[in-house]
Amino acid sequence: MIHRLINKVKDLLFPKFCVNCEKEGVWLCEACLSLENLAQEDRAVANLDGITALFNYGDNTISKLIQMFKYNYLLEIADIFEKIITETKFNNTWTDFVIIPVPLHARRERERGLNQAEVLAMMFAKKFGLSINKNLNRVVYTVQQAKLSGEERRQNLKDAFVFKGGAVPEKVLLVDDVYTTGATMQECARVLKNNGVKVVWGLVLAKG
Ligand SMILES: [Zn+2]
Repeated sequence: MIHRLINKVKDLLFPKFCVNCEKEGVWLCEACLSLENLAQEDRAVANLDGITALFNYGDNTISKLIQMFKYNYLLEIADIFEKIITETKFNNTWTDFVIIPVPLHARRERERGLNQAEVLAMMFAKKFGLSINKNLNRVVYTVQQAKLSGEERRQNLKDAFVFKGGAVPEKVLLVDDVYTTGATMQECARVLKNNGVKVVWGLVLAKG
């Protein structure tokens, strides 16, 4: 009862609108959520053997949701993504793959409160029945990629990732929220392959 009351006050102070159709009361309404989605696949791109995206990053709705998820983490947004992931159809189910989320530097993770890639990795792990490996670490605290050009991004990522011991999986499904220039995921894939991983496939919510 108290909890419902608090939520009611919160809704009055911070009204929500569907990011797609602007209907009041929710971040993404049932009608907009139920629009059928088939994940798009692309074959080999540099170090990745393939990449699958649920959405095009040019889609305003999804990019707004991802920004909200990344910078003002809201449980409700996580719930929306979980529903979307559950309802999306995939051609690939990545049997025998192990999921690795693109890591954040520990300091960045503390600043942000969570690694959004890890939250998504848990949702995909549940959907496909795969396990998660967290041995890929980000050891250099880098400038935020979004502020840099393509070449600067690659320089910025130099030696940023290290695969820390343990058994090396043969096939990895690398998960992140977005793939824009691809610099981060390509660097992760390169490091994983240098450490003996045979196949690295990318899986993201949205691709630019
Ligand atoms: Zn809507």
